[in-house]
Amino acid sequence: MSGASPAERLAEVRAGIARAAKLAGRGVDEVRLIAVSKTYPAEAIVPLIDAGQRAFGENRVQEAQDKWPDLRRSHPDVELHLIGQLQSNKAEEAAALFDCIHSVDRPSLVSALAKAMERSGRRPDCFVQVNIGDEPQKGGCPVADLPALLDHCRSSALPVRGLMCIPPAGVEPAPYFALLATLARRHDVGALSMGMSADYETAVMIGATHVRVGTALFGERS
Ligand SMILES: *Cc1c(COP(=O)(O)O)cnc(C)c1O
Repeated sequence: MSGASPAERLAEVRAGIARAAKLAGRGVDEVRLIAVSKTYPAEAIVPLIDAGQRAFGENRVQEAQDKWPDLRRSHPDVELHLIGQLQSNKAEEAAALFDCIHSVDRPSLVSALAKAMERSGRRPDCFVQVNIGDEPQKGGCPVADLPALLDHCRSSALPVRGLMCIPPAGVEPAPYFALLATLARRHDVGALSMGMSADYETAVMIGATHVRVGTALFGERS
């Protein structure tokens, strides 16, 4: 990877997505590549925008507020995804800045986001994050609580498009991706945000509609 230009790395990841989609009998345009630019400065992001990348992911509201308003003035068609945990007291700022929020994971946040959207009139697409391995230290809604949380989202008119997960580290991710796909079908939500640098091709084969790729595009984070 070292030595490759951002455009070359982007082409490589796109080719990987296309390969996986083809194997699974899916169209490549069913998959949205989100370039995860957390910790990387504007100078690292601009070359990817210039190479045609339009969807970017950040994991902190504050960092995104520092970086993106300027970048967006010069590139208004960029879309911004929040992929990290969100505190309820930042819901309003998140609704104002992001086009999509992947980390809706608890009733208090659903309520805060619904209120923020009503006030601002901005309605970013939402994903419910599922703690797919039921790991105690991890964010996301426990699998058993998902039906109730989705009910809460629906009664609050939150625009939920799909489910998101981060599988447990160090084990084969495919069964977790498959479980997320099953849960999405069962609850009739269409989109699946799953797959990162190490496993996005596997995720695409199992039905990912949004893959979140950082390292493979930007290099290792320090
Ligand atoms: C950082 C991060 C990614 C990207 O991870 P890479 O391994 O660098 O591709 C994806 N999703 C979430 C939620 C992240 O925090």
